[in-house]
Amino acid sequence: MAAEIAEPVETGRYDDDVEELDVIIIGAGNLGLYQLYLIKRMGLSVRAYDDAGGVGGTWYWNRYPGARFDSESESYGYSFSPELTQEWDWKEHFSGQPENERYFNYVADKFDLRDNIVLNTRVVAATYDESEARWEIELDDGRRSRAQFVVAAVGILSAHYSPDFPGIDDFEGESFHTSRWPREPVDLRGKRVAVIGAGASGVQVCQTIAAEVSQLTVYQRTPHYLVPLRNGPVTPEEQRQLKDRAAEIHRLCREVSPVGFMYGPDPRSALDYSKEERWKVYEELWTRPGFAKFLMNFSDLWTEDAAADDYSEFVREKIRERVHDPKVAEKLTPRTYRFGARRVPCEDNYYEIFNRNNVELVSVLDTPIERITQKGILTSDGEREFDVIIYATGFDSITGSLTRMDIRGVDGQRLADKWTEGFRTLLGMQTNGFPNLFIAMASSFCNYTVCAEMVAEWNANCIEFVRNRNFRSIHPHKEAEDRWMQHVRDAASQGVAKDDVSSWFKGSNIPGKASSTPLMYFGSLQAYRVELLNAARTFEEFILE
Ligand SMILES: Cc1cc2nc3c(=O)[nH]c(=O)nc-3n(C[C@H](O)[C@H](O)[C@H](O)COP(=O)(O)OP(=O)(O)OC[C@H]3O[C@@H](n4cnc5c(N)ncnc54)[C@H](O)[C@@H]3O)c2cc1C
Repeated sequence: MAAEIAEPVETGRYDDDVEELDVIIIGAGNLGLYQLYLIKRMGLSVRAYDDAGGVGGTWYWNRYPGARFDSESESYGYSFSPELTQEWDWKEHFSGQPENERYFNYVADKFDLRDNIVLNTRVVAATYDESEARWEIELDDGRRSRAQFVVAAVGILSAHYSPDFPGIDDFEGESFHTSRWPREPVDLRGKRVAVIGAGASGVQVCQTIAAEVSQLTVYQRTPHYLVPLRNGPVTPEEQRQLKDRAAEIHRLCREVSPVGFMYGPDPRSALDYSKEERWKVYEELWTRPGFAKFLMNFSDLWTEDAAADDYSEFVREKIRERVHDPKVAEKLTPRTYRFGARRVPCEDNYYEIFNRNNVELVSVLDTPIERITQKGILTSDGEREFDVIIYATGFDSITGSLTRMDIRGVDGQRLADKWTEGFRTLLGMQTNGFPNLFIAMASSFCNYTVCAEMVAEWNANCIEFVRNRNFRSIHPHKEAEDRWMQHVRDAASQGVAKDDVSSWFKGSNIPGKASSTPLMYFGSLQAYRVELLNAARTFEEFILE
Protein backbone atom coordinates (compact mmCIF):
# COMPACT_ATOMS: atom_id res chain seq x y z
CA MET A 1 0.00 0.00 0.00
CA ALA A 2 2.90 2.36 0.57
CA ALA A 3 3.08 4.71 -2.38
CA GLU A 4 6.55 5.29 -3.69
CA ILE A 5 7.47 8.91 -4.21
CA ALA A 6 7.87 9.36 -7.89
CA GLU A 7 11.05 10.96 -9.09
CA PRO A 8 10.32 14.33 -10.65
CA VAL A 9 8.83 13.57 -14.06
CA GLU A 10 7.36 15.86 -16.59
CA THR A 11 3.92 14.51 -17.26
CA GLY A 12 1.35 15.86 -19.65
CA ARG A 13 3.71 18.00 -21.72
CA TYR A 14 2.13 19.33 -24.86
CA ASP A 15 3.59 20.13 -28.22
CA ASP A 16 1.67 23.12 -29.51
CA ASP A 17 2.74 26.59 -28.61
CA VAL A 18 -0.51 27.48 -26.91
CA GLU A 19 -2.67 24.80 -25.42
CA GLU A 20 -6.42 25.45 -25.22
CA LEU A 21 -8.11 24.02 -22.14
CA ASP A 22 -11.32 24.39 -20.16
CA VAL A 23 -9.60 24.78 -16.81
CA ILE A 24 -6.07 25.57 -15.67
CA ILE A 25 -5.11 24.75 -12.11
CA ILE A 26 -2.03 26.35 -10.60
CA GLY A 27 -0.66 24.16 -7.82
CA ALA A 28 -0.74 20.41 -7.21
CA GLY A 29 -0.85 20.42 -3.44
CA ASN A 30 -3.66 19.32 -1.18
CA LEU A 31 -6.27 21.59 -2.75
CA GLY A 32 -5.01 21.49 -6.33
CA LEU A 33 -5.07 17.69 -6.44
CA TYR A 34 -8.66 17.45 -5.22
CA GLN A 35 -9.67 20.25 -7.60
CA LEU A 36 -8.07 18.35 -10.46
CA TYR A 37 -9.91 15.18 -9.49
CA LEU A 38 -13.26 17.03 -9.49
CA ILE A 39 -12.67 18.84 -12.78
CA LYS A 40 -11.52 15.65 -14.50
CA ARG A 41 -14.65 13.91 -13.28
CA MET A 42 -16.71 16.64 -14.96
CA GLY A 43 -15.13 15.61 -18.25
CA LEU A 44 -13.41 18.96 -18.83
CA SER A 45 -9.96 19.44 -20.31
CA VAL A 46 -7.66 20.47 -17.50
CA ARG A 47 -4.02 20.80 -16.62
CA ALA A 48 -2.35 21.55 -13.29
CA TYR A 49 1.03 23.28 -13.20
CA ASP A 50 3.34 23.21 -10.21
CA ASP A 51 6.84 24.57 -9.82
CA ALA A 52 7.68 21.74 -7.43
CA GLY A 53 9.38 18.56 -8.61
CA GLY A 54 6.54 16.45 -7.19
CA VAL A 55 2.98 16.68 -5.93
CA GLY A 56 1.92 17.55 -2.37
CA GLY A 57 2.73 21.29 -2.20
CA THR A 58 3.53 22.05 1.43
CA TRP A 59 4.50 18.42 1.96
CA TYR A 60 6.83 18.43 -1.01
CA TRP A 61 8.68 21.60 0.00
CA ASN A 62 8.84 21.50 3.80
CA ARG A 63 11.18 18.54 4.27
CA TYR A 64 13.18 20.07 7.12
CA PRO A 65 14.05 17.90 10.15
CA GLY A 66 10.96 17.37 12.28
CA ALA A 67 8.36 18.68 9.78
CA ARG A 68 5.00 17.13 10.61
CA PHE A 69 1.25 17.70 11.05
CA ASP A 70 -0.23 19.26 14.08
CA SER A 71 -3.64 18.21 12.79
CA GLU A 72 -4.47 14.59 13.59
CA SER A 73 -3.44 12.60 10.50
CA GLU A 74 -6.85 11.03 10.00
CA SER A 75 -8.58 14.40 10.15
CA TYR A 76 -6.11 15.95 7.68
CA GLY A 77 -6.57 13.15 5.11
CA TYR A 78 -9.23 13.72 2.46
CA SER A 79 -12.78 12.70 3.30
CA PHE A 80 -14.15 12.62 -0.25
CA SER A 81 -13.21 9.00 -0.88
CA PRO A 82 -14.19 6.47 1.82
CA GLU A 83 -12.17 3.92 -0.18
CA LEU A 84 -9.02 6.04 0.11
CA THR A 85 -9.63 6.49 3.84
CA GLN A 86 -9.91 2.74 4.31
CA GLU A 87 -6.87 1.95 2.17
CA TRP A 88 -4.41 4.40 3.63
CA ASP A 89 -2.83 3.54 6.99
CA TRP A 90 -1.46 6.59 8.78
CA LYS A 91 1.50 5.35 10.78
CA GLU A 92 1.56 8.15 13.36
CA HIS A 93 -1.23 10.16 14.95
CA PHE A 94 0.54 13.32 13.76
CA SER A 95 2.27 12.21 10.63
CA GLY A 96 5.64 13.50 9.45
CA GLN A 97 6.57 15.05 6.09
CA PRO A 98 7.89 11.89 4.38
CA GLU A 99 4.65 10.01 5.00
CA ASN A 100 2.54 13.02 4.07
CA GLU A 101 4.36 13.34 0.77
CA ARG A 102 3.81 9.63 0.12
CA TYR A 103 0.09 10.12 0.83
CA PHE A 104 -0.31 12.80 -1.83
CA ASN A 105 1.64 10.69 -4.32
CA TYR A 106 -0.65 7.78 -3.53
CA VAL A 107 -3.67 10.04 -4.18
CA ALA A 108 -2.23 11.23 -7.51
CA ASP A 109 -1.76 7.61 -8.60
CA LYS A 110 -4.99 6.23 -7.24
CA PHE A 111 -7.13 8.83 -8.98
CA ASP A 112 -5.06 8.80 -12.14
CA LEU A 113 -4.12 12.47 -11.94
CA ARG A 114 -0.51 12.43 -13.09
CA ASP A 115 -1.14 12.78 -16.82
CA ASN A 116 -2.80 16.13 -16.17
CA ILE A 117 0.02 17.51 -14.01
CA VAL A 118 3.02 19.42 -15.32
CA LEU A 119 5.75 19.63 -12.70
CA ASN A 120 8.85 21.82 -12.44
CA THR A 121 6.88 24.55 -14.21
CA ARG A 122 6.15 27.94 -12.75
CA VAL A 123 3.25 30.09 -13.88
CA VAL A 124 4.71 33.58 -14.12
CA ALA A 125 1.76 35.51 -15.53
CA ALA A 126 -1.96 35.25 -16.19
CA THR A 127 -3.84 37.73 -18.36
CA TYR A 128 -7.60 37.95 -18.86
CA ASP A 129 -8.79 38.49 -22.41
CA GLU A 130 -12.17 40.22 -22.07
CA SER A 131 -13.19 39.78 -25.69
CA GLU A 132 -12.79 36.01 -25.49
CA ALA A 133 -13.54 35.67 -21.76
CA ARG A 134 -10.47 33.48 -21.45
CA TRP A 135 -7.29 33.52 -19.41
CA GLU A 136 -3.88 33.11 -20.94
CA ILE A 137 -1.13 31.98 -18.66
CA GLU A 138 2.58 32.20 -19.30
CA LEU A 139 4.95 29.56 -17.98
CA ASP A 140 8.54 30.09 -16.91
CA ASP A 141 9.78 28.28 -20.03
CA GLY A 142 7.93 30.80 -22.20
CA ARG A 143 5.08 28.51 -23.18
CA ARG A 144 1.48 29.59 -22.87
CA SER A 145 -1.88 27.97 -22.19
CA ARG A 146 -5.39 29.33 -22.40
CA ALA A 147 -8.54 28.37 -20.54
CA GLN A 148 -11.92 29.76 -19.58
CA PHE A 149 -11.24 29.21 -15.89
CA VAL A 150 -8.14 29.45 -13.72
CA VAL A 151 -8.06 27.89 -10.29
CA ALA A 152 -5.12 29.33 -8.35
CA ALA A 153 -4.50 26.59 -5.78
CA VAL A 154 -1.17 28.19 -4.95
CA GLY A 155 -1.22 27.70 -1.19
CA ILE A 156 -1.73 29.82 1.92
CA LEU A 157 1.82 29.14 3.10
CA SER A 158 3.84 28.53 -0.03
CA ALA A 159 5.50 31.89 -0.80
CA HIS A 160 8.42 31.53 1.58
CA TYR A 161 9.83 34.68 3.14
CA SER A 162 13.37 35.60 4.19
CA PRO A 163 13.92 38.97 5.84
CA ASP A 164 16.26 41.17 3.92
CA PHE A 165 19.10 41.08 6.45
CA PRO A 166 22.13 43.11 5.38
CA GLY A 167 25.01 40.83 4.40
CA ILE A 168 22.79 37.79 3.85
CA ASP A 169 24.90 36.70 0.85
CA ASP A 170 28.19 37.18 2.69
CA PHE A 171 27.80 34.11 4.88
CA GLU A 172 30.42 31.50 4.01
CA GLY A 173 28.69 28.54 5.66
CA GLU A 174 25.56 26.76 4.49
CA SER A 175 22.12 28.43 4.62
CA PHE A 176 18.70 26.86 4.26
CA HIS A 177 15.11 28.07 4.40
CA THR A 178 12.88 25.51 6.11
CA SER A 179 10.45 25.67 3.21
CA ARG A 180 13.11 25.04 0.57
CA TRP A 181 14.95 22.23 2.32
CA PRO A 182 16.98 20.13 -0.13
CA ARG A 183 15.93 16.60 -1.09
CA GLU A 184 19.45 15.36 -0.31
CA PRO A 185 20.16 14.70 3.39
CA VAL A 186 21.76 17.62 5.26
CA ASP A 187 24.26 16.51 7.90
CA LEU A 188 24.07 18.84 10.91
CA ARG A 189 25.89 16.55 13.33
CA GLY A 190 28.54 18.33 15.36
CA LYS A 191 27.92 21.66 13.65
CA ARG A 192 27.28 25.12 15.07
CA VAL A 193 23.78 25.93 13.90
CA ALA A 194 21.68 29.10 14.09
CA VAL A 195 17.92 28.93 13.64
CA ILE A 196 16.30 32.28 12.93
CA GLY A 197 12.62 32.14 13.78
CA ALA A 198 10.80 30.35 16.57
CA GLY A 199 7.36 29.83 15.03
CA ALA A 200 5.88 26.45 14.12
CA SER A 201 8.68 25.38 11.74
CA GLY A 202 11.48 26.79 13.91
CA VAL A 203 10.17 24.90 16.92
CA GLN A 204 10.01 21.62 15.00
CA VAL A 205 13.54 22.02 13.66
CA CYS A 206 15.11 23.05 16.96
CA GLN A 207 13.64 20.26 19.04
CA THR A 208 14.70 17.73 16.39
CA ILE A 209 18.32 18.81 15.95
CA ALA A 210 19.29 20.12 19.42
CA ALA A 211 20.86 16.84 20.56
CA GLU A 212 22.93 16.23 17.43
CA VAL A 213 24.47 19.64 16.77
CA SER A 214 27.43 20.94 18.74
CA GLN A 215 25.82 24.34 19.33
CA LEU A 216 22.29 25.56 18.61
CA THR A 217 21.42 29.23 18.85
CA VAL A 218 17.75 30.12 18.49
CA TYR A 219 16.93 33.67 17.39
CA GLN A 220 13.42 34.40 18.61
CA ARG A 221 11.35 37.47 17.82
CA THR A 222 7.94 36.76 19.39
CA PRO A 223 7.55 34.05 22.03
CA HIS A 224 4.68 31.64 21.34
CA TYR A 225 2.27 29.73 23.51
CA LEU A 226 3.30 26.18 22.58
CA VAL A 227 1.36 23.06 23.52
CA PRO A 228 2.63 19.47 23.76
CA LEU A 229 1.82 17.43 20.63
CA ARG A 230 1.89 14.01 22.35
CA ASN A 231 2.43 12.13 19.11
CA GLY A 232 2.75 8.36 18.88
CA PRO A 233 2.53 5.44 16.47
CA VAL A 234 -0.94 4.26 15.47
CA THR A 235 -1.26 0.75 16.90
CA PRO A 236 -3.13 -1.92 14.87
CA GLU A 237 -6.04 -1.69 17.31
CA GLU A 238 -6.17 2.12 17.01
CA GLN A 239 -5.94 1.77 13.23
CA ARG A 240 -9.02 -0.44 13.22
CA GLN A 241 -10.93 1.94 15.47
CA LEU A 242 -10.00 4.96 13.38
CA LYS A 243 -11.21 3.21 10.22
CA ASP A 244 -14.45 2.20 11.93
CA ARG A 245 -14.96 5.78 13.10
CA ALA A 246 -13.85 7.44 9.85
CA ALA A 247 -17.27 8.70 8.77
CA GLU A 248 -17.96 10.04 12.25
CA ILE A 249 -14.53 11.75 12.40
CA HIS A 250 -15.13 13.47 9.08
CA ARG A 251 -18.61 14.55 10.17
CA LEU A 252 -17.22 15.99 13.42
CA CYS A 253 -14.63 17.95 11.46
CA ARG A 254 -17.05 19.26 8.88
CA GLU A 255 -20.21 19.80 10.88
CA VAL A 256 -19.39 20.14 14.57
CA SER A 257 -15.97 21.61 15.27
CA PRO A 258 -15.88 25.37 14.57
CA VAL A 259 -12.31 24.93 13.33
CA GLY A 260 -12.56 21.60 11.51
CA PHE A 261 -10.98 19.27 14.06
CA MET A 262 -12.26 15.91 15.26
CA TYR A 263 -13.58 17.13 18.57
CA GLY A 264 -16.18 19.65 19.57
CA PRO A 265 -15.90 22.36 22.24
CA ASP A 266 -17.26 22.10 25.74
CA PRO A 267 -20.33 24.40 25.72
CA ARG A 268 -19.73 25.44 29.33
CA SER A 269 -18.35 28.85 30.20
CA ALA A 270 -15.06 28.95 32.07
CA LEU A 271 -16.30 31.93 34.00
CA ASP A 272 -19.06 29.90 35.68
CA TYR A 273 -16.42 27.99 37.64
CA SER A 274 -13.92 28.86 40.35
CA LYS A 275 -10.26 29.15 39.42
CA GLU A 276 -9.53 25.85 41.12
CA GLU A 277 -12.27 24.09 39.14
CA ARG A 278 -11.20 25.69 35.87
CA TRP A 279 -7.56 24.82 36.28
CA LYS A 280 -8.49 21.21 37.11
CA VAL A 281 -10.26 21.01 33.74
CA TYR A 282 -7.31 22.66 31.95
CA GLU A 283 -4.95 20.23 33.66
CA GLU A 284 -6.95 17.14 32.64
CA LEU A 285 -7.18 18.28 29.05
CA TRP A 286 -3.46 19.16 28.96
CA THR A 287 -2.70 15.42 28.78
CA ARG A 288 -4.59 15.13 25.46
CA PRO A 289 -2.82 15.12 22.10
CA GLY A 290 -2.59 18.07 19.74
CA PHE A 291 -5.16 20.85 19.79
CA ALA A 292 -7.68 18.78 21.79
CA LYS A 293 -6.39 20.34 24.99
CA PHE A 294 -7.78 23.73 24.04
CA LEU A 295 -10.42 22.93 21.41
CA MET A 296 -12.25 20.58 23.82
CA ASN A 297 -11.95 23.18 26.53
CA PHE A 298 -14.52 25.73 27.73
CA SER A 299 -15.96 27.34 24.64
CA ASP A 300 -15.35 30.92 25.78
CA LEU A 301 -11.57 30.70 26.15
CA TRP A 302 -11.28 32.59 22.85
CA THR A 303 -14.18 34.95 23.14
CA GLU A 304 -14.38 36.18 26.74
CA ASP A 305 -11.49 38.39 27.80
CA ALA A 306 -11.38 37.14 31.40
CA ALA A 307 -11.42 33.48 30.27
CA ALA A 308 -8.72 34.14 27.68
CA ASP A 309 -6.54 35.87 30.29
CA ASP A 310 -6.97 32.96 32.68
CA TYR A 311 -6.06 30.25 30.16
CA SER A 312 -3.09 32.28 28.93
CA GLU A 313 -1.80 32.38 32.50
CA PHE A 314 -2.25 28.61 32.81
CA VAL A 315 -0.11 28.03 29.70
CA ARG A 316 2.54 30.51 30.90
CA GLU A 317 2.75 28.54 34.13
CA LYS A 318 3.47 25.40 32.07
CA ILE A 319 6.43 27.13 30.42
CA ARG A 320 7.87 28.20 33.76
CA GLU A 321 7.59 24.62 35.05
CA ARG A 322 9.71 23.23 32.22
CA VAL A 323 12.55 25.71 31.78
CA HIS A 324 15.15 25.66 34.58
CA ASP A 325 16.63 29.14 34.13
CA PRO A 326 13.95 31.70 35.10
CA LYS A 327 15.51 34.35 32.83
CA VAL A 328 15.31 32.03 29.81
CA ALA A 329 11.79 30.98 30.82
CA GLU A 330 10.76 34.61 30.91
CA LYS A 331 12.11 35.22 27.40
CA LEU A 332 10.11 32.22 26.18
CA THR A 333 6.90 33.46 27.81
CA PRO A 334 4.41 35.51 25.78
CA ARG A 335 3.21 38.57 27.67
CA THR A 336 1.83 40.96 25.08
CA TYR A 337 -1.03 38.86 23.66
CA ARG A 338 -3.33 36.06 24.74
CA PHE A 339 -3.35 32.37 23.95
CA GLY A 340 -4.90 31.76 20.51
CA ALA A 341 -4.27 35.24 19.09
CA ARG A 342 -1.56 33.68 16.93
CA ARG A 343 -1.47 30.20 15.47
CA VAL A 344 -0.61 27.80 18.31
CA PRO A 345 2.37 25.60 17.38
CA CYS A 346 2.77 22.16 18.90
CA GLU A 347 6.01 20.84 20.37
CA ASP A 348 7.52 17.67 21.86
CA ASN A 349 10.48 18.67 23.96
CA TYR A 350 11.06 22.22 22.80
CA TYR A 351 11.19 23.91 26.19
CA GLU A 352 13.56 21.25 27.55
CA ILE A 353 16.18 21.95 24.87
CA PHE A 354 16.85 25.25 26.65
CA ASN A 355 18.00 23.25 29.70
CA ARG A 356 20.87 21.83 27.61
CA ASN A 357 24.34 23.35 27.71
CA ASN A 358 24.63 23.50 23.92
CA VAL A 359 21.47 25.57 23.34
CA GLU A 360 21.20 29.35 23.62
CA LEU A 361 18.16 31.58 23.18
CA VAL A 362 18.66 35.05 21.72
CA SER A 363 15.68 37.38 21.87
CA VAL A 364 15.97 39.69 18.90
CA LEU A 365 13.58 42.04 20.66
CA ASP A 366 16.38 42.67 23.20
CA THR A 367 19.34 42.32 20.84
CA PRO A 368 18.23 42.81 17.22
CA ILE A 369 20.03 41.16 14.31
CA GLU A 370 22.17 43.85 12.69
CA ARG A 371 23.61 41.82 9.86
CA ILE A 372 24.67 38.42 8.61
CA THR A 373 28.45 38.26 8.45
CA GLN A 374 30.91 35.98 6.66
CA LYS A 375 31.22 33.88 9.80
CA GLY A 376 27.79 34.16 11.38
CA ILE A 377 25.28 36.60 12.81
CA LEU A 378 25.91 40.01 14.37
CA THR A 379 23.39 41.23 16.91
CA SER A 380 23.60 44.36 19.01
CA ASP A 381 25.45 42.35 21.70
CA GLY A 382 28.12 40.92 19.39
CA GLU A 383 28.88 38.34 16.71
CA ARG A 384 28.26 34.59 17.00
CA GLU A 385 29.91 32.21 14.53
CA PHE A 386 28.10 29.36 12.78
CA ASP A 387 28.58 26.60 10.24
CA VAL A 388 24.90 26.61 9.23
CA ILE A 389 22.11 29.20 9.32
CA ILE A 390 18.53 27.94 9.08
CA TYR A 391 15.92 30.52 8.18
CA ALA A 392 12.62 29.50 9.76
CA THR A 393 11.24 32.89 8.87
CA GLY A 394 7.88 31.88 7.51
CA PHE A 395 5.77 32.96 4.60
CA ASP A 396 4.22 35.84 2.76
CA SER A 397 0.93 34.12 3.52
CA ILE A 398 -2.30 33.88 1.49
CA THR A 399 -1.74 36.73 -0.98
CA GLY A 400 2.01 36.21 -1.48
CA SER A 401 1.73 33.21 -3.80
CA LEU A 402 -0.82 35.11 -5.92
CA THR A 403 0.85 38.50 -6.12
CA ARG A 404 4.21 36.95 -7.02
CA MET A 405 2.59 36.14 -10.37
CA ASP A 406 1.75 38.95 -12.78
CA ILE A 407 -2.03 38.48 -12.78
CA ARG A 408 -3.99 41.00 -14.85
CA GLY A 409 -7.77 41.16 -14.96
CA VAL A 410 -10.31 43.45 -16.63
CA ASP A 411 -8.74 46.60 -18.14
CA GLY A 412 -5.29 45.19 -17.41
CA GLN A 413 -5.65 45.79 -13.67
CA ARG A 414 -2.91 44.00 -11.72
CA LEU A 415 -4.05 41.85 -8.81
CA ALA A 416 -1.06 43.05 -6.76
CA ASP A 417 -2.21 46.66 -7.31
CA LYS A 418 -5.78 45.88 -6.36
CA TRP A 419 -4.61 44.49 -3.02
CA THR A 420 -2.08 47.21 -2.18
CA GLU A 421 -4.47 48.65 0.40
CA GLY A 422 -5.57 45.23 1.63
CA PHE A 423 -7.00 41.87 0.70
CA ARG A 424 -10.43 42.09 -0.99
CA THR A 425 -12.46 39.08 -2.05
CA LEU A 426 -15.90 37.60 -1.73
CA LEU A 427 -15.66 34.56 0.57
CA GLY A 428 -11.94 34.37 -0.11
CA MET A 429 -12.98 32.73 -3.40
CA GLN A 430 -13.14 35.38 -6.09
CA THR A 431 -12.33 39.05 -6.50
CA ASN A 432 -14.07 41.74 -8.54
CA GLY A 433 -12.41 42.55 -11.85
CA PHE A 434 -10.85 39.10 -12.24
CA PRO A 435 -13.60 37.00 -13.86
CA ASN A 436 -13.34 33.22 -13.77
CA LEU A 437 -10.31 33.34 -11.48
CA PHE A 438 -10.79 31.17 -8.42
CA ILE A 439 -8.58 31.91 -5.45
CA ALA A 440 -8.54 28.36 -4.23
CA MET A 441 -7.45 28.50 -0.61
CA ALA A 442 -9.13 27.30 2.52
CA SER A 443 -9.98 30.76 3.78
CA SER A 444 -11.65 29.76 6.99
CA PHE A 445 -9.20 29.47 9.87
CA CYS A 446 -9.31 25.71 10.42
CA ASN A 447 -7.93 22.23 9.83
CA TYR A 448 -6.97 22.76 6.21
CA THR A 449 -8.33 19.81 4.27
CA VAL A 450 -11.78 20.12 5.78
CA CYS A 451 -12.24 23.60 4.35
CA ALA A 452 -10.17 22.90 1.22
CA GLU A 453 -12.63 20.18 0.18
CA MET A 454 -15.54 22.62 0.55
CA VAL A 455 -13.69 25.23 -1.49
CA ALA A 456 -12.75 22.84 -4.32
CA GLU A 457 -16.34 21.54 -4.46
CA TRP A 458 -17.70 25.10 -4.56
CA ASN A 459 -15.37 25.99 -7.42
CA ALA A 460 -16.38 22.89 -9.39
CA ASN A 461 -20.08 23.62 -8.85
CA CYS A 462 -19.61 27.22 -9.88
CA ILE A 463 -17.79 26.23 -13.07
CA GLU A 464 -20.57 23.77 -13.87
CA PHE A 465 -23.21 26.45 -13.22
CA VAL A 466 -21.51 28.99 -15.49
CA ARG A 467 -21.07 26.49 -18.30
CA ASN A 468 -24.53 24.93 -18.05
CA ARG A 469 -26.22 28.34 -18.13
CA ASN A 470 -24.05 29.44 -21.03
CA PHE A 471 -22.52 32.35 -19.17
CA ARG A 472 -19.07 33.48 -20.23
CA SER A 473 -17.82 34.64 -16.90
CA ILE A 474 -18.42 35.17 -13.21
CA HIS A 475 -16.93 37.51 -10.62
CA PRO A 476 -18.31 39.23 -7.53
CA HIS A 477 -19.93 42.65 -7.30
CA LYS A 478 -17.84 45.25 -5.45
CA GLU A 479 -20.66 45.69 -2.93
CA ALA A 480 -20.55 41.96 -2.21
CA GLU A 481 -16.84 42.25 -1.48
CA ASP A 482 -17.55 45.18 0.85
CA ARG A 483 -20.11 43.09 2.71
CA TRP A 484 -17.80 40.12 3.06
CA MET A 485 -14.74 42.12 4.08
CA GLN A 486 -16.76 43.91 6.78
CA HIS A 487 -17.98 40.52 8.00
CA VAL A 488 -14.37 39.25 8.10
CA ARG A 489 -13.30 42.32 10.11
CA ASP A 490 -16.24 41.92 12.52
CA ALA A 491 -15.42 38.25 13.08
CA ALA A 492 -11.84 39.21 13.94
CA SER A 493 -12.82 41.97 16.33
CA GLN A 494 -13.85 39.72 19.18
CA GLY A 495 -11.97 37.89 21.91
CA VAL A 496 -8.34 37.01 21.37
CA ALA A 497 -8.54 37.61 17.60
CA LYS A 498 -8.48 41.35 18.31
CA ASP A 499 -5.12 41.24 20.12
CA ASP A 500 -2.53 43.33 18.37
CA VAL A 501 0.08 40.79 17.31
CA SER A 502 2.35 40.37 14.35
CA SER A 503 0.91 37.37 12.56
CA TRP A 504 0.69 35.76 9.16
CA PHE A 505 -3.11 35.64 9.62
CA LYS A 506 -3.02 39.38 9.17
CA GLY A 507 -0.01 39.80 6.93
CA SER A 508 1.72 41.88 9.59
CA ASN A 509 4.75 39.55 9.62
CA ILE A 510 5.82 41.04 6.27
CA PRO A 511 7.20 44.59 6.29
CA GLY A 512 5.04 46.91 4.20
CA LYS A 513 2.23 44.40 3.62
CA ALA A 514 -1.28 45.78 4.17
CA SER A 515 -2.54 44.24 7.40
CA SER A 516 -5.67 46.15 8.32
CA THR A 517 -7.93 43.32 7.10
CA PRO A 518 -7.41 39.74 8.27
CA LEU A 519 -6.42 37.36 5.51
CA MET A 520 -8.49 34.56 6.98
CA TYR A 521 -12.04 34.27 8.22
CA PHE A 522 -12.35 33.81 11.98
CA GLY A 523 -16.04 32.95 12.06
CA SER A 524 -16.80 29.26 12.47
CA LEU A 525 -16.28 26.76 9.69
CA GLN A 526 -20.02 26.08 9.77
CA ALA A 527 -20.79 29.79 9.31
CA TYR A 528 -18.38 29.81 6.38
CA ARG A 529 -20.07 26.78 4.87
CA VAL A 530 -23.47 28.49 5.13
CA GLU A 531 -22.00 31.52 3.35
CA LEU A 532 -20.72 29.27 0.57
CA LEU A 533 -24.06 27.52 0.21
CA ASN A 534 -25.97 30.81 0.18
CA ALA A 535 -23.63 32.30 -2.40
CA ALA A 536 -24.19 29.35 -4.73
CA ARG A 537 -27.96 29.32 -4.25
CA THR A 538 -28.68 32.31 -6.48
CA PHE A 539 -25.23 33.72 -7.34
CA GLU A 540 -26.87 37.14 -6.86
CA GLU A 541 -23.69 38.59 -5.37
CA PHE A 542 -21.88 37.85 -8.63
CA ILE A 543 -21.71 39.54 -12.02
CA LEU A 544 -22.64 36.89 -14.58
CA GLU A 545 -22.03 37.73 -18.21
C1 LIG B 1 5.37 23.24 7.76
C2 LIG B 1 3.88 23.35 7.60
C3 LIG B 1 3.07 22.55 8.37
C4 LIG B 1 1.68 22.64 8.23
N1 LIG B 1 0.90 21.84 9.00
C5 LIG B 1 -0.44 21.91 8.87
C6 LIG B 1 -1.30 21.09 9.67
O1 LIG B 1 -0.86 20.30 10.50
N2 LIG B 1 -2.64 21.23 9.52
C7 LIG B 1 -3.18 22.10 8.62
O2 LIG B 1 -4.40 22.17 8.53
N3 LIG B 1 -2.39 22.85 7.82
C8 LIG B 1 -1.06 22.80 7.95
N4 LIG B 1 -0.25 23.59 7.16
C9 LIG B 1 -0.86 24.47 6.13
C10 LIG B 1 -0.70 23.83 4.73
O3 LIG B 1 -0.11 24.76 3.90
C11 LIG B 1 -2.04 23.34 4.23
O4 LIG B 1 -2.49 22.34 5.12
C12 LIG B 1 -2.05 22.71 2.83
O5 LIG B 1 -0.97 21.86 2.62
C13 LIG B 1 -2.14 23.73 1.73
O6 LIG B 1 -2.46 23.07 0.55
P1 LIG B 1 -2.62 23.86 -0.83
O7 LIG B 1 -2.81 22.87 -1.88
O8 LIG B 1 -3.65 24.92 -0.70
O9 LIG B 1 -1.24 24.65 -0.98
P2 LIG B 1 0.24 24.08 -1.06
O10 LIG B 1 0.34 22.78 -0.41
O11 LIG B 1 1.10 25.17 -0.58
O12 LIG B 1 0.46 23.84 -2.62
C14 LIG B 1 0.53 24.92 -3.53
C15 LIG B 1 1.48 24.52 -4.64
O13 LIG B 1 1.38 25.52 -5.65
C16 LIG B 1 2.68 25.77 -6.14
N5 LIG B 1 2.72 27.11 -6.73
C17 LIG B 1 2.56 28.30 -6.12
N6 LIG B 1 2.69 29.30 -7.00
C18 LIG B 1 2.92 28.72 -8.20
C19 LIG B 1 3.15 29.22 -9.52
N7 LIG B 1 3.15 30.53 -9.77
N8 LIG B 1 3.36 28.34 -10.52
C20 LIG B 1 3.36 27.00 -10.29
N9 LIG B 1 3.16 26.47 -9.06
C21 LIG B 1 2.93 27.33 -8.04
C22 LIG B 1 3.55 25.67 -4.89
O14 LIG B 1 4.92 25.49 -5.19
C23 LIG B 1 2.94 24.46 -4.21
O15 LIG B 1 3.56 23.29 -4.64
C24 LIG B 1 1.12 23.54 7.30
C25 LIG B 1 1.97 24.37 6.54
C26 LIG B 1 3.32 24.28 6.69
C27 LIG B 1 4.19 25.17 5.85
